[in-house]
Amino acid sequence: MISSIVQQSRQAFDSGITRPLAWRKAQLETMITMLEKHQDELSAALKVDLGRGMEEAWLYDIGFTITEVKLMLKNLKKWTAPRKVPTPMVTKPASSMRVPQPLGVVCVIAPWNYPVQLLLIPAAGAIAAGNAVVMKPSEVSSETSRVLAKIVPLYFTDKAVAIVEGGVQETTELLKQKFDHIFYTGNGAVGRVVMRAAAENLTPVTLELGGKSPTIVDASANIAVAARRIAWAKYVNAGQTCVAPDYVLAHKSIANELVEAIRTSITEFYGADPHASKDYSRVISPKHFSRLTSLISSGKVAIGGQSEQAERYIAPTVLVDVDQNSPVMQEEIFGPILPVLEVGSIDEAIGFVNSRPHPLALYVFAQDNSVNEKVIAETTSGGVTVNGTIMHMTGPYLPFGGIGESGMGAYHGQSGVDVFQHLKPVLKRSTMLDAPLAYPPYTKRKFSILKKFI
Ligand code: NAD
Repeated sequence: MISSIVQQSRQAFDSGITRPLAWRKAQLETMITMLEKHQDELSAALKVDLGRGMEEAWLYDIGFTITEVKLMLKNLKKWTAPRKVPTPMVTKPASSMRVPQPLGVVCVIAPWNYPVQLLLIPAAGAIAAGNAVVMKPSEVSSETSRVLAKIVPLYFTDKAVAIVEGGVQETTELLKQKFDHIFYTGNGAVGRVVMRAAAENLTPVTLELGGKSPTIVDASANIAVAARRIAWAKYVNAGQTCVAPDYVLAHKSIANELVEAIRTSITEFYGADPHASKDYSRVISPKHFSRLTSLISSGKVAIGGQSEQAERYIAPTVLVDVDQNSPVMQEEIFGPILPVLEVGSIDEAIGFVNSRPHPLALYVFAQDNSVNEKVIAETTSGGVTVNGTIMHMTGPYLPFGGIGESGMGAYHGQSGVDVFQHLKPVLKRSTMLDAPLAYPPYTKRKFSILKKFI
């Protein structure tokens, strides 16, 4: 079944239907239509899976995807056109260019936390680049997966755009097939499985992984703004965001003030009882609920700490007095629990970050810009927002991706199309000049002239 779906995609690609810009444009427009027509159904599915409110379902999944696809449509011609580059003297008269070409059949494997955008934005990039694509939504966000698997075939009637549902067994089967690129978003353990499977066919991969994204708050920071931006990023989608601030390293002179300001922000966002807020999400599954609740004992609960199993509710929580070797500081938290650790200096914060794997995102809050510059220069992460959180990955002009343990490759905006096309170097020479200088036999004089050019 899975092999025949991939085979059909291969046949569709080989037939050439995916190459014309008109086809790509029509598919991207179709994706927008599909999302607009089924936004209520998708929003309801996100509510079932993640307890997500309608507004955030739109902002961070449905609408976010539409905006990205519209940008691809607007720039389709430009981003897929040959790119002229300079020609070196030795090859003149000639012209040089990089000619974008689709890769073939692309596989997109998505996780459950933003299950619409993390499936459809890479798929749209693959289509914009002229590929056939096979999508695999996460079985963990099962309702959203079901809706996507129902609507995609209604709108994408060519075999070139396919969707398969399933868990480990189906994905294992899928990864046995030959693809021309695999775009995987999820945890690093499965990232390794994907890369191993890809190696069998020498298939290139993009791995969008996660990790513990640190947030450094300097003594000079604007505490009220920092607290608001940290609280928003940490508690949106109940902390189940790959670029959520995983933990805070706060200068000890402002740590208490920061925690109190985070408390104020939580109340402003979700009221005195976040459980009753329509804007506060739920944890995805009972498994994740018990993993997360067990982490709360890693420190002293300064804010929140309450949970309710039946609803998979965990209150927005802040932990203080956290030992850096405690369980909450070992793995990506990926839930609404925020450890705030105190540091004595920026150098200590930088040392802490650098002693751990490279994170997907890093945030630094300081009014003293030399602190921001120092952190940018002396740490390594997928991306950085200064005096903010998450926002570096929302615009189309900054590529989004990780480094080291947090992933390889990047997308969004033009990078989101380039990742799925081969920018083939092409040199076009003229036959008008063909100086004997370049050919043997070499004389002393010829060689000395050639050395000047090469
Ligand atoms: P998940 O459990 O949904 O898994 C991701 C995908 O891998 C799913 O489609 C699943 O079916 C598949 N999969 C699971 N086990 C597999 C196996 N053994 N073999 C083959 N395929 C398998 O999602 P997750 O991994 O829990 O997602 C959360 C992680 O993803 C976090 O680490 C988070 O930081 C990261 N993430 C990264 C980004 C990013 O853009 N960099 C975005 C979202 C999430």
